[in-house]
Amino acid sequence: MQAGAQPSRLDSFTRKDIGDHYDQFAWAYSRYWGDHIHHGLFLNGEEDAQRAQEMMVRHCAARAELRAGMRVADVGCGHGITAAFLAREYSCHVLGLTISRKQVKLAKKNCASLDGQVRFELADAEAYAFAPSSFDVVWNMESSEHFFEKAAYLRRAADALKPGGKLMLAAWAGSMQNELVRNIAQIFLCPELWTADQYVREIEAAGMKIVSREQLAAEVARTWEISAEQVRNSRALLAVLPAAFRQFARGIDLIREGYRTGQFAYSILIASKPVTAPVA
Ligand code: SAH
Repeated sequence: MQAGAQPSRLDSFTRKDIGDHYDQFAWAYSRYWGDHIHHGLFLNGEEDAQRAQEMMVRHCAARAELRAGMRVADVGCGHGITAAFLAREYSCHVLGLTISRKQVKLAKKNCASLDGQVRFELADAEAYAFAPSSFDVVWNMESSEHFFEKAAYLRRAADALKPGGKLMLAAWAGSMQNELVRNIAQIFLCPELWTADQYVREIEAAGMKIVSREQLAAEVARTWEISAEQVRNSRALLAVLPAAFRQFARGIDLIREGYRTGQFAYSILIASKPVTAPVA
């Protein structure tokens, strides 16, 4: 490490804390943001949050060239709303994994009518035994931020993909050498945030090839303006909720600052697994 450089990995929380966070916040996410727990894509400034979130899913699905009948692993599947969307709109078969017990329940409820096409498991994706070469798409939307061993996970994702299959990874991006980014990582229980370059390097090291790379900020930042407005309208409630909720609210302002100042970004990467294994 260079003199003065910060350790990049935070170690003040565990995987259990991450699962507990999503258990504890499930009602608040649903009520204040909706069951999609990810950024919206705001292209004309007129969209409401839900429409912008669906635009984000469509955008990533288009980039990953999702087609009918594909098998998708939705790694870090939240409340199962993306899985439902991919099943309904794209006729995909989806396996959703989450580390939150509460989310598995919600996901099953949200997908009750899609029995057979979508299933969910309570599992740590970093230890999950994916069947090799079994998925057309591995979909990581805003979940890899929570992983402790991202490089190892990316190798497992590559192994889980069929030859020619795609990794869709949408992630909060920033350098842990940056104080603002480290503070965001701490508040939102991310052991480590990576820059897009770090992801690209490790995706390639895992044997996949980057086919599309985008860095967004202005197109997604409204997500946090809407969240800040929700917080302003819920001051009285916030005051009586556990401290974790006030901490989360503080994090919203840090992310707004991050986007405003260019210290933080939203990265969408698509990578494909080679059709033929490289010659050793
Ligand atoms: N992709 C969803 C949810 C994003 S929130 C959406 O777009 O709405 C982050 C998700 O990652 C949560 O579902 C959380 O449970 C999951 N997650 C975090 N660490 C995980 C791990 N080690 N294994 C499985 N899921 C994990």
